[in-house]
Amino acid sequence: MKKDIHPEYQTVKSVCSTCSTEFTFGSTVSKFSVDVCSGCHSFYTGDKSMARATGRIERFNRMAAFAKNLKK
Ligand SMILES: [Zn+2]
Repeated sequence: MKKDIHPEYQTVKSVCSTCSTEFTFGSTVSKFSVDVCSGCHSFYTGDKSMARATGRIERFNRMAAFAKNLKK
């Protein structure tokens, strides 16, 4: 390996901002952040709550009624 041309390989700790799972891995960057990981992403958990395709109009009307009540 040639000297003084390679970035420093180090152990990096990263925390998922959604589920607070801590990861340790090797990288050449010193700081690393993730918004979503395999522990909390709906693709891996099978949770359908993030993909809400139906009932959007009903939800909007419910929120509009709630906002109207707040102004009174
Ligand atoms: Zn996560």
